[in-house]
Amino acid sequence: MEIHTIPCLKDNYVYALRAGDKAVLVDASESAPVLKFLSSMKWQLDTILLTHHHWDHVQGNSELKDHYGCKTISSEYDRSRIANVDLGTKDSEKIIFDEIEIETITIPGHTLGHIAYHIPSERILFTGDTLFSAGCGRLFEGTPEQMYRSLNKLKKLDPETRIFCGHEYTLRNLEFVRAHAPNNDVENYYRHMLDVRAQNRPTLPTTLGTELKINPFLRAESLDEFIRLRKLRDQW
Ligand code: ZN
Ligand code: FE
Repeated sequence: MEIHTIPCLKDNYVYALRAGDKAVLVDASESAPVLKFLSSMKWQLDTILLTHHHWDHVQGNSELKDHYGCKTISSEYDRSRIANVDLGTKDSEKIIFDEIEIETITIPGHTLGHIAYHIPSERILFTGDTLFSAGCGRLFEGTPEQMYRSLNKLKKLDPETRIFCGHEYTLRNLEFVRAHAPNNDVENYYRHMLDVRAQNRPTLPTTLGTELKINPFLRAESLDEFIRLRKLRDQW
């Protein structure tokens, strides 16, 4: 499956998946770069999948919908909080796109309505602002318990799953991890990612296997440990 990364705003990523000449978008941070990309590829936008209601993930939704007449999907919880959403989804619902099954996974914590989109057949996961490379999202609405449980849900997926996150936060996250949960894998990954960013390439996707080695929020073995790390990161 072909996936393109479209940089938006300051450090957001919108992802475009393609089947035939039809495209699905994950998040809609702004419309201009997305319109430019889709028209250059001559793809028709079929569906927009929204991970959560924050403005930097939905701002382009209405304009893209007007332009392409596409379908827009969010969590049921966020349906009333985002303009122009057609369909609200609950946990473990299946969205079919050109014979490809996309599954929803509810992952409250960063916000209460946050969802991930998972494509099991391709081992692909879109995590919005819940799981980042070497980090996790801030707790704006959910409790630490909810976030910890959400991350544990994602941890059970195939380690080879490729993870596409909502922001380019990897280097900053790794700097925190180097200071507070260092190990050799973190050090090596940090050096590698310095190179990647020096070439202005995205550090994403990462894989679940990599995150299990370098991401202290996934590695935390208890809720207390998770809370301790999240507090440190908030103050950092
Ligand atoms: Zn957010
Ligand atoms: Fe965001």
